[in-house]
Amino acid sequence: MQGPAGAFNQLLSTFNVFTVLTWKEVIRFAKEGNPKPDRVVERTEEEWRAQLTPEEYRVTRLKGTERAFSSEMCSLFEPGLYGCLCCDTLLFDASEKFESGTGWPSFTQPIKENAIAYHGDFSYGMQRIETVCNVCGAHLGHVFPDGPAPSRLRYCMNAVSLKKVKVPNETV
Ligand SMILES: [Zn+2]
Repeated sequence: MQGPAGAFNQLLSTFNVFTVLTWKEVIRFAKEGNPKPDRVVERTEEEWRAQLTPEEYRVTRLKGTERAFSSEMCSLFEPGLYGCLCCDTLLFDASEKFESGTGWPSFTQPIKENAIAYHGDFSYGMQRIETVCNVCGAHLGHVFPDGPAPSRLRYCMNAVSLKKVKVPNETV
């Protein structure tokens, strides 16, 4: 027999896909291994060079950082989705984008838990968590624990690593 509480819990578990990712989980992913991606895209360095501009290649494949305030994407907040420049995997929903004032587009959550992989980055004497596309390994930027509630995460992204994806009118 299932009472109202059981039915309610069942309903809740249906919506569990929207669980908010927190810093604790980000650290766990970086230390113990990342969630499995839906697919894997692998290309040679030559193929990436042929596909990307030198600046895109430098940021996404060589872990570069674009100049702050170099992209109009920082101040764009129209609805839509953001995908990986290199492999088109959907990474962020515009509803999770916020004005961080850093000069880089900033988000509080990825679109799916397994869209992004996390690696400890100890370069330049800092301890940071690098974010990469979990499908093709493109460098996206870093994630920090000083974002807005409820996740408190700030995905600090290179605009050049992202592409805005148009959402068909019939969705949502
Ligand atoms: Zn990718």
